[in-house]
Amino acid sequence: MSRIPTLADLGDVRGKRVLVRTDFNVPMDGGVITDDFRIRAALPTINWLTERGATVVTASHLGRPKGQPNPKYSMDAVRARLAELAPGVELLENLRFDAGEEGNDPAFVAKITEGIDLYVDDAFGACHRAHASIVGPPKALPSAMGLLLQKEVEVLLGLRNDPKHPFVAVLGGSKISDKLGVVEALLKVVDSLVVGGAMCFTFLSAQGYPIGDSLFEPDQVATCKRLLAQAKAGGKTIHLPEDLVGVDAKGQFATFGRSLPDGAKGFDIGPGTAAAFSDVIMDARTVFWNGPMGMFEDPRFEAGTRTVAQAMADTKAFTVVGGGDSAAALAQFGLDDEVSHVSTGGGASLELLELGDLPGLAALRGAPNAK
Ligand code: ADP
Ligand code: MG
Repeated sequence: MSRIPTLADLGDVRGKRVLVRTDFNVPMDGGVITDDFRIRAALPTINWLTERGATVVTASHLGRPKGQPNPKYSMDAVRARLAELAPGVELLENLRFDAGEEGNDPAFVAKITEGIDLYVDDAFGACHRAHASIVGPPKALPSAMGLLLQKEVEVLLGLRNDPKHPFVAVLGGSKISDKLGVVEALLKVVDSLVVGGAMCFTFLSAQGYPIGDSLFEPDQVATCKRLLAQAKAGGKTIHLPEDLVGVDAKGQFATFGRSLPDGAKGFDIGPGTAAAFSDVIMDARTVFWNGPMGMFEDPRFEAGTRTVAQAMADTKAFTVVGGGDSAAALAQFGLDDEVSHVSTGGGASLELLELGDLPGLAALRGAPNAK
């Protein structure tokens, strides 16, 4: 299997026109960018190319315009911000204004690569999609992964292939069914799993604990039973909450043990559990965290997620956070600079951990300059 070419594998870029697929899918509010992190994150790759004399043409999707031009999703605001941060760098119109992008249409690939000499993929968050701008250009053009994508691949494949032990995965969020594949893949490489969020109720129910009216996926109980048995057979621990916070049958804030009475709903892990989860994180040498421990958007139920986030910041372990809501929680607590790596791709980071490869990476390995 050839390796993924890096920027150095492009050869001399002077005078070349380079198409850089970026992830400029920034949060917007009424036509205004609310966070330009994704634009700034692309600058190292853009600058690497322009400093060496290349002309850079960037391209990204923004939102879900469903294959049709829609002024609501125009790239104008992004283009204006990019012009301030990287003068002279071009930006194509929203790739998803053309159905050929998501349909991986060769005619659309030809359109976006017209006059282009080299291709660079720096859009980790889109690499799990076999879209035209991701898998098309490397078929014909010498190609490379950008610096941002390279870092993501190194960190996430490092977790999968060569983690320092103890390796702990902290999982939460709303649905186990969304994350089943990655839970199974992680069970093979971690020493223990720590489970909070709504996901914990399907596990608790599988162990026979009453969970009241908490969020729960009845069709996943059998799977959770199998995962618990698999972990036990492999000598691994799945840590589940021992206390919970939520509302009682009257809707009043309440704290519970591991069992919830009829009508009660669990919305966060309890303080005892948060402390126990922190201890596991403090003793680890590698931690991957995906999914909030509770409904952290509501201040009554943010404490568990905050405690875990603080442990992620405090531990000496190599710490990686994946998932849009987990990254948002970390930022909400002002701790995003305190972990080793925050992945820019939610779905892409889980899929890379699960499968060890992504369509976008496979495409780069097949590029004409790949060795
Ligand atoms: P990520 O984006 O980090 O992968 P998810 O999208 O899987 O995370 O889940 C995040 C959502 O899960 C948050 O909106 C949070 O409110 C919700 N959540 C977490 N715990 C609970 C719970 N106990 N009950 C209801 N919702 C929960
Ligand atoms: Mg999410």
